[in-house]
Amino acid sequence: MRHLILSDIHSNLEALHAVLRHAEGAYDTIVCCGDLVGYNAAPIEVIDWARQTLSAVVRGNHDTVCCGVEDPLMFNSVARQAALWTLDELPPASRAWLADLPAGPLTFDSFEIAHGSPGGEDDYLIDTIDIHGLDQIMMRKICFFGHTHLQGGWSWQRGGIQRLTKPALGEDERIIDLDPDFLYLINPGSVGQPRDGDPRAAYAIWDAGNALLRFRRVKYDIRSAQNRIHEAGLPEYLADRLAAGR
Ligand code: ZN
Repeated sequence: MRHLILSDIHSNLEALHAVLRHAEGAYDTIVCCGDLVGYNAAPIEVIDWARQTLSAVVRGNHDTVCCGVEDPLMFNSVARQAALWTLDELPPASRAWLADLPAGPLTFDSFEIAHGSPGGEDDYLIDTIDIHGLDQIMMRKICFFGHTHLQGGWSWQRGGIQRLTKPALGEDERIIDLDPDFLYLINPGSVGQPRDGDPRAAYAIWDAGNALLRFRRVKYDIRSAQNRIHEAGLPEYLADRLAAGR
């Protein structure tokens, strides 16, 4: 089975379409580590797609705020403005679907998914020190997560912990052989708002049968996503950061 692993789509329909085109034929199911909405301006379209398409998904912190389950008090001002705009935009059925999304980690036969971390859905795994002890609580050898918008992750092996490498700016793929004896924490990166200095949409394909992980990047129509942000009256900063990949 080959799984398309997505995270942090954040209402960016242009980036989502580019990823689906780029990955066409290379996967059997689609899994999402949360934050379908927030920041960008196509929440209805992204939720409609998600409802029909995803085989597994956990809620992200923006999903719970954008459907009214949580207060946006913890958000900075631009995230809050986008969340309140999304809440106002969504029809009741879309809000109800978001409100019903399960909290991570969610465990399947051979992998698990979390929004922030297998240790807590809102935790950020950024530096190697952040993953200390998680090997003791992981329920499966592979856990996919998101939340930081940083493509990459870690493996635990006999020699210690190693970071996984994402594609360089000139590359569109990095292939990693997965060792069945190792543990892996894998962040596919953000589809809709990358923050690792590479503005291309990020995703991963996990080919379970061949024990291969593919970190991928693809260019998308950033200008159209920015125009949507302008038309919605959302903060200019949200459009600018798409081009910067920050
Ligand atoms: Zn996010």
